[in-house]
Amino acid sequence: MGNNGDGWHTPAVEALRAGPRNQVVDLDTNGTPGFDGDKEFGTKLIEERGSVLSDLQEMLFANGRLGDERSVLLVLQGMDTAGKGGMVRNVIGHVDPQGVDHTAFGVPTPEEKRHHYLWRIHKALPRDGQLGVFDRSHYEDVLVARVRQLVPESVWRRRYDEINRFERDIADSGTTIVKVAMFVSLDEQKERLAERLERRDKHWKYNPSDVDERALWPEYQQAYQDMLDKTNTDHAPWYVVPCDRKWYSRLAVMELLIDAFERLDLDWPEANFDIEAEKKRLAES
Ligand code: AMP
Ligand code: MG
Repeated sequence: MGNNGDGWHTPAVEALRAGPRNQVVDLDTNGTPGFDGDKEFGTKLIEERGSVLSDLQEMLFANGRLGDERSVLLVLQGMDTAGKGGMVRNVIGHVDPQGVDHTAFGVPTPEEKRHHYLWRIHKALPRDGQLGVFDRSHYEDVLVARVRQLVPESVWRRRYDEINRFERDIADSGTTIVKVAMFVSLDEQKERLAERLERRDKHWKYNPSDVDERALWPEYQQAYQDMLDKTNTDHAPWYVVPCDRKWYSRLAVMELLIDAFERLDLDWPEANFDIEAEKKRLAES
């Protein structure tokens, strides 16, 4: 899509890459960086681009079947109501579920608590040829763990370097990592929580502790900013995505993923049998 007034005038990977331009406190969570189309156009584009993503993912899967060890990992990190679940349904929902390794990380179980915080993350990494999706991640261990003082500062402070090394190893072993930090405004969050209280089909999503987290918003903003500053590496880049407009955030993540797949320069794998001979055998069978 060129700069024709109805699409991306700056690629999502450029417009959203974490950096001095998009500081958490100043972020316009209602913005649509890089994109000048409206909701109707953006929504239509999600469908079109979804089939592109689907083909790319199938190509990765096909190559994985034949020994290609590469994979893609999408990390979704954001406060409650940022739209992580909807992102999975509406973006990842375009691809064949058999090619997706999805994991949602909640409060660590007693077993997980007995291990290093990266233990459960390591176990959930995508297999060869798969698209891994993390709904929350190891970053909770420098976000909620920091803000809620679940561990002393000396412990969470050294996690940034540890996470960078961990992600370096993952990238070196063939996983393309795309990290998405999702932000809604405090007002938008209030509306989304209110809806969860109004609607019987949304009560299950409501957690009374979400209201307590709202009081810690400035602390969370600081923790998110430090996370972005300290772990925005070239092997595992962060993208800062405004999420008040769900259609925009979904379209943006769609584009970030398509970019990651395109950089793999995938093609359909060569047949590992003699096609002509097989045609002949089939005709004679
Ligand atoms: P939800 O995504 O709404 O199911 O909520 C999951 C909850 O688990 C959130 O409140 C997270 O902050 C919490 N959580 C996830 N990972 C951790 C962690 N490593 N330590 C403490 N709490 C966590
Ligand atoms: Mg929740």
